[in-house]
Formats: sequence, C-alpha cells, structure tokens
Amino acid sequence: MPELPEVETIRRGLEECLTRKRSGRVLSVEILETKSFIGEPEEIISADVIAMRRRGKALIFDLSNGKSLICHLRMTGQMIWSNGKERFAGGHPNDNFIAELPNKQTRVVIDFENGRLFFNDQRKFGFMKVVPTNGVEKDAFIRKLAKEPWEMSGEELYAKLQKHKGAPIKSVILDQTIIAGLGNIYADEALHYAMVNPKRKAGLVSKEDAEKIIAGARTVMEKSLDAGGSTIRNYVKSDGTRGDYLELFAEVFNRQGKECRRCGEKIVKTKVGGRGTHYCPRCQKT
Ligand SMILES: [Zn+2]
Repeated sequence: MPELPEVETIRRGLEECLTRKRSGRVLSVEILETKSFIGEPEEIISADVIAMRRRGKALIFDLSNGKSLICHLRMTGQMIWSNGKERFAGGHPNDNFIAELPNKQTRVVIDFENGRLFFNDQRKFGFMKVVPTNGVEKDAFIRKLAKEPWEMSGEELYAKLQKHKGAPIKSVILDQTIIAGLGNIYADEALHYAMVNPKRKAGLVSKEDAEKIIAGARTVMEKSLDAGGSTIRNYVKSDGTRGDYLELFAEVFNRQGKECRRCGEKIVKTKVGGRGTHYCPRCQKT
C-alpha cells in the first residue's frame, strides 16, 4: 500500500497533469469494473478538474461542476495519465507504469480533451466515488479519517492513547482512525526517532513521548516527501525516474542486523500486531 508521502507525490503529479485546464474537460468515462466506480459517470462529464486535494491517503479531484471524485488506491491501485507524448504514473509500482493501457488491470478510464487517466487496480480494493464537493467532508470514508501528524499535537495523541492503554504503541499509531497516514515504515521510523519501543503499552507512553512521536512522524514523512516518497522496492516517481530512497532515509526499517546510527547496537526485526517491526533494543527501551 502506498504510504502518505507517495499519495502526496501522486497528488502533486496529477495536479500538474489535470488542473489549470491542462487536460481540459472530461469527454467520457469508461467503467471496466463496476465495483471500482461508485456513482454515475454522467455526473462528471464536461467538467474539468480545478483542484487536486488529499485527505489521508484519499485523493480528491474537485471538478468545475460542483462535484468531486474521491479516490483511494488501497493495496494495488495506480493512477496513470498520458497524453500520448508524456506519461505520469504513481501508486503500486509494476510494469503497468510503462505498459500499453488499458489492460486487464484497468478498472476505469477517464478521457479528457487532452489526455487520458487510467485507474488500474489489480486486487480491486480501491475505488473512485462521485460526491458533491460540499459533501466531501461529510462522506463516511473521509469523515472517519483522523488528523494527520501535521494537524495533531502531542497532547491530542496522548489523549487518544488513553483509550487504548493496553495495546502496543506501534499498533495504535498504525490505526488510521487515531492518526492518519502513518504506514508501517513511518511508524517504525517515528518510534525510533522518539526512542520508544514499538511494543510499549500505549498507556505507558508519556506526554513527552507522544510529542516526540508526532515530531518523528513529521520529520520522517517530510524527508520522504522531499525525495518523492519511498517504497520497499524502487519507487517510480511522478516524472518516471526511480527513487531508491529507503536506503538513504531509514534508520531502522529493513536495517535488521545493521548498526543503529545513534548507538551502534544491532537493529532487531520482530512482529508487533502481526506487522514486521524494526527497532533498536538499546535506544528504544520498553
Ligand atoms: Zn540505538
């Protein structure tokens, strides 16, 4: 699943391709998989994209006719835009980024005056959904998203932790209804930054620790955004270049057996709540 910095990278890429009348009006919408598109395609015909927004990992296309398209890529979703000369691709990295489209993983094709947008989704967990723009915030999916690390204070996080006292802190910060946008990589990195053991019970995380977790989440995500996002494998960025960023930025993720850059102890890999988890046993005491 793309992490928040990747989704932000996709948002920026699509903004470049679709807004400021670059792609023009929607001419047609072809739905190849009915469950991938919620709403009536007619609702978006003839409109242009006037803004690209993001809430958590959801992309929001605001249209000139008062409608918006909410899109979530989930595990395997991709957004690929092409005008024949240029191509932008983001999301789950695979050969579709350079393949001829549509193909058998294409679920929705939106034809614009100048360009086509392909929504590919191998596993079909992602979706596009038409809603009135003034109803985006009321949408059930958007409404249940919590604040992002940039919008939340340490105090707010601390207050939320009190409702999940017995759960390991790592599992709590992965819960998108508590804090939005932290995936597995950034959760491990934020906890290392804060020097908090991922298995520590949320009830034993102090207010100061909660502040540091928020600061760590912001720091690692900003670093990642600067480099255009990360994935475990190479990531194809919006301009088609490959980012092998994780190696440069990660302090613990996928560094098991290697030395902690802060204290020299070997990084350990374990499981917390079923998720592969990386930490330094010396810096991050329970
Ligand atoms: Zn260490």
